[in-house]
Amino acid sequence: MSKYLGYNSLIRYGLGIIFIANALAAFFAPDELIEIIKNSFVASLLPVSPRVFVGVVIGLNDSIVGLLLISGFATRRVALWATMWIVGVIIIIAKPLDMLEHSGLLFMSAALVLGDTYPAAKKLYQCSECGLSYEDKIWKDKCEAWCKKHHTCHVEITRRAVKNKS
Ligand SMILES: [Zn+2]
Repeated sequence: MSKYLGYNSLIRYGLGIIFIANALAAFFAPDELIEIIKNSFVASLLPVSPRVFVGVVIGLNDSIVGLLLISGFATRRVALWATMWIVGVIIIIAKPLDMLEHSGLLFMSAALVLGDTYPAAKKLYQCSECGLSYEDKIWKDKCEAWCKKHHTCHVEITRRAVKNKS
């Protein structure tokens, strides 16, 4: 599969587009975001007005995170930051339905953080005579020995073969 269409890339594009969309909202239609910030506990903690915070901090953060996700640069670190950012957003919005909706994004960012640690596909051993694949080299050797000698497959051996994916 093309590396641009692997699971990892598709999740990056999905999450990246959501961040870009939110950045565009922060730049061009910030009223709803400003309202959310005004009504949250962070309003009193901000050193700047909610309007500046939305336009500068949220707008810049979300566009940078979105572009980095789509480009695939430092995916794990960016995804880790995105995870913390989304948790912060969930705490700030404090509306059950919106919180539920945003928590869905956490699964996407978690998938990107964990992505590289998933075990790689298992190495398979292939019989050079009949082409069947085995997880175990011993069975591949047995298959090969049998196939070479008899030019036919042995059911007791081939039932241990891994189904060929092509
Ligand atoms: Zn064989």
